[in-house]
Amino acid sequence: DRLIAAAPEQGEVRLDHAIRPKRLADYIGQPRVREQMEIFIGAARLREESLDHTLVFGPPGLGKTTLANIIAAEMGVGLKSTSGPVLERAGDLAAMLTNLEEGDVLFIDEIHRLSPVVEEVLYPAMEDFQLDIMIGEGPAARSIKLDLPRFTLVGATTRAGLLTSPLRDRFGIVQRLEFYNLAELTEIVTRSARLLEVPSTPDGCEEIAKRSRGTPRIANRLLRRVRDYADIKGRGEIDTPIADAALNMLNVDHHGLDHMDRRLLLAMMDKFDGGPVGVDSLSAAIGEERDTIEDVIEPYLIQQGLMMRTPRGRVVTRQAWSHFSRVPHEQAAD
Ligand code: ADP
Repeated sequence: DRLIAAAPEQGEVRLDHAIRPKRLADYIGQPRVREQMEIFIGAARLREESLDHTLVFGPPGLGKTTLANIIAAEMGVGLKSTSGPVLERAGDLAAMLTNLEEGDVLFIDEIHRLSPVVEEVLYPAMEDFQLDIMIGEGPAARSIKLDLPRFTLVGATTRAGLLTSPLRDRFGIVQRLEFYNLAELTEIVTRSARLLEVPSTPDGCEEIAKRSRGTPRIANRLLRRVRDYADIKGRGEIDTPIADAALNMLNVDHHGLDHMDRRLLLAMMDKFDGGPVGVDSLSAAIGEERDTIEDVIEPYLIQQGLMMRTPRGRVVTRQAWSHFSRVPHEQAAD
């Protein structure tokens, strides 16, 4: 399947346990986020208060769940976790909320997918730590109010713009995660290789980092695949030739683009003369959902300067044409 798939794979969870950073000091990269969170967490601890509700956004695999766990660990509190689509009814959220202990972190992944009725229950809970819920129907219906323990809501979403504004306004802290640079990803691969006891050279780790789409989850995933390759085709050690051969076999190019990235860019060049083209036409052309294009594929390509979002639609850049050794058609030239 796709290497840049959004969700963790089967079997990844157990392995992940060994390498997922547990404290802020082990959270590599994201210097701005780390610095701010250190201060906010330190101040909350000093005042013996719970941390303000925190919204974390950024493309899949950049460390949102990891950060939520770190916040709980640094605050010395428990963490309960759920996700937007799982909380179907108001009662589902009420059950989670009434199960919290004082100070706990409640982590809601994909918080932009909460239904409106569930969101309504969340507002007073976030603001006044009160549960305000209707029970029964018709004339017998009545509303009950319950006091909740103080807790910290940590919400994760791929794009902050997907949240309704009343929900967004209720977060005191908003953190945006960025793609990781080469040095940071190399540090992540090196650290994971050490924890997994995989023999590797610095260059071998850097080669994997270079081709990880700026994303720790992909870096760790590629490390595992390259390790398999090294065990079977080499002598168990990850060096540059082994990493290069393994990644070529996996269809990950030197830019870290995989086949879906290439399909998207090639469709834009071959079918739409480089754009501008609307995301729905692109979705139809490559048979990929619009959300996947917007949340998973496109952010990295934009960050790498291979394509742009303009008011008239998506366009590929000169850099993309040259990446594929192609010459833009005259009408598409800028
Ligand atoms: P998200 O919730 O944003 O999809 P995760 O928090 O699950 O991403 O991160 C994916 C994996 O990448 C984690 O399991 C962890 O091992 C690794 N990871 C994420 N952020 C970092 C980081 N800052 N430093 C080191 N490893 C990280």
